[in-house]
Amino acid sequence: MDMNRLRDHMVEHHVMRRGIGDQSVIKAMRIVPREKFVDPGFEEFAYEDAPLSIGDGQTISQPFIVALMIEKADLKADGKVLEIGTGSGYASALISRIARHVYSVERHERLALQARERFERLGYGNIDVRVGDGSKGWAKAAPFDAIIVSAGAPEVPTALKEQLDLGGRLIIPVGRNDEQRLKRITRTGATTFGEEDLGGVLFVPLIGEDAWTAAHPMYTATAPSPRAEERASKLISAAAEEFSSVDDKSFAVLFDRFADSRIVLLGESTHGTAEFYETRAAISRRFIEHYGFNLIAVEADWPDAAAIDRWLNGQAPGDGQPFHRFPKWMWRNLEFSRFVGWMKKENERRKASHKDPVRFYGLDLYNMSGSIRSVLDYLETISPETAKIARERYGCLSPWQSNPATYGRAVLTEAYRSCEDAVLKQCTDLLARSLDDAASGKDDFLNAVQSARLLAAAERYYRVMYYGGAQAWNLRDTYMADTVEHLLDFHGPAAKIIIWAHNSHIGDARYTDMATARDELSLGQLCRQRFDEMTSLIGLGTHCGEVIAADDWDGRAEKKQMNPSLPQSCERLCHEAAKPRFLLDLRADEELHASLVEQRLQRFIGVIYRPETERLSHYMSTSLSRQYDAFIWFDETHALSPLVAPQSSKGDPETFPFGF
Ligand code: SAM
Repeated sequence: MDMNRLRDHMVEHHVMRRGIGDQSVIKAMRIVPREKFVDPGFEEFAYEDAPLSIGDGQTISQPFIVALMIEKADLKADGKVLEIGTGSGYASALISRIARHVYSVERHERLALQARERFERLGYGNIDVRVGDGSKGWAKAAPFDAIIVSAGAPEVPTALKEQLDLGGRLIIPVGRNDEQRLKRITRTGATTFGEEDLGGVLFVPLIGEDAWTAAHPMYTATAPSPRAEERASKLISAAAEEFSSVDDKSFAVLFDRFADSRIVLLGESTHGTAEFYETRAAISRRFIEHYGFNLIAVEADWPDAAAIDRWLNGQAPGDGQPFHRFPKWMWRNLEFSRFVGWMKKENERRKASHKDPVRFYGLDLYNMSGSIRSVLDYLETISPETAKIARERYGCLSPWQSNPATYGRAVLTEAYRSCEDAVLKQCTDLLARSLDDAASGKDDFLNAVQSARLLAAAERYYRVMYYGGAQAWNLRDTYMADTVEHLLDFHGPAAKIIIWAHNSHIGDARYTDMATARDELSLGQLCRQRFDEMTSLIGLGTHCGEVIAADDWDGRAEKKQMNPSLPQSCERLCHEAAKPRFLLDLRADEELHASLVEQRLQRFIGVIYRPETERLSHYMSTSLSRQYDAFIWFDETHALSPLVAPQSSKGDPETFPFGF
């Protein structure tokens, strides 16, 4: 891994592009090796724009927030600076590259000692570290030109104000968890201080005599002010186009305004909600019946979707049961089966009137879940520990997962790396076999375009997929976008396609943390970039209810209760609009669009749902109105109905979906 390149990238993308302009801060961030401040094994995550676990329940702060605090402290080369909350030592190290001397206080002895060792090893000789309660400051070394507090306090501790020199700046997060604000206090006289609000943040708590007494969860995000939230919620309420039920005839008509598009992408904020499938089915039926849409492509494996397509077109579906691997419920459910049943009837009608049939395709990397299954089976026999890492890493292929504790379990080991070649061979053999099967099944499109492309790139695909993470995500979404493009070419200029996939795929990733923190792109973004005016991106969301999901990749599907959406999220705004179901056309109303441009939290639940780490595992910052053209809201939702394999008394396999 080229750490210098990653560091430069972090500075340019996560720091400068987000408005940090102070050259001394930028220079310090370019020279301090952040990877030396994380635990061994975590180096590959050091340059993501996210806080990272450093043990003892503490975190190394997100690079952007560290840069912001230092910039706002307005450090001078001859300055004397106090940092409260040394943690990993990273922020103190940066400050030491700008100011003359740094005093740093940490309440955890292990962290303080470790930071001291790091400074010594790096030759940073102008930092003093002390173990203690920083809410009392460091009286003997006072006064300070600047004080930076890297943990959130209930109020500004008096001792810290008193230890500021005249003109000195104190940067400190203040307030309860959901309302924490970053403040700059400037000493203007012996007893006078100025105060400025620098925005919403969320830090671990400052724990001490003049601070909190109990632990609080950690997160950092900027947040709009309560007044902006109230206004946005009112605008949503005014713009909401309510509907009573997706079964009502008037429902799908609401979407006619998007039927001019050639590519309509329909999302979902969970992979386990009945209303999302029913909504997409109702819109798809209308578009197929009235607007010439003839292709449905879903976030699923090609061979499984091809079996459905064959059945829809009067051919034998082939051997085996489609969608029999994790996460089965995503397509093996009653709601989807009903839609497949409808497509079957539609194709029979079309055949009778000599019209071309509707075709059904899977967009994912060819046989992705088949290859993941074979990797897991292989690793399980070699080393269960390694299989556990793989499971966690494949979890990252489902939407946004940014829990530092999760990374802890997914850090690459030597054993993992040493399995790479054997795993690649397994996957390429499997691919060659399944392409042979597909060829004998005369899959027209696959024969025409896909197989050669797949075989040529297979080794690279499997290598990237094996390691998971952002690169695998990008490979997958680029592959999906290429397939959409090829399908449209293959079916000719009149072809129109509807795509069903998760919000994180169909939204435009450029306006989310996916791009800013991880350099991830998305299918929706690529469709917009490649097809310009011809796409509509429609997200779907909910406040609360039940959902089908697993605890881990490969885990059991369970009906889980979703936590209500968090304050400061766009879901909470929709909830506060106090209307049970509605369409929000984000292009129709300029004022509404503008008020939802600002980044807010948004919830993403994929095949895995971990309510106990909800905020970290399932929320990221996004701009709702830039990400989608429209948003469909259900205040309360229900779990979809998985079809459990009913082995009949004769031992026949289940008949999904062909029994419908
Ligand atoms: N600046 C750190 C870095 O760059 O890695 C990150 C700081 S972390 C978000 C907050 C730190 O504040 C934790 O290490 C925590 O133990 C420490 N802390 C909390 N209360 C404290 C107190 N009263 N005095 C000193 N340190 C405290």
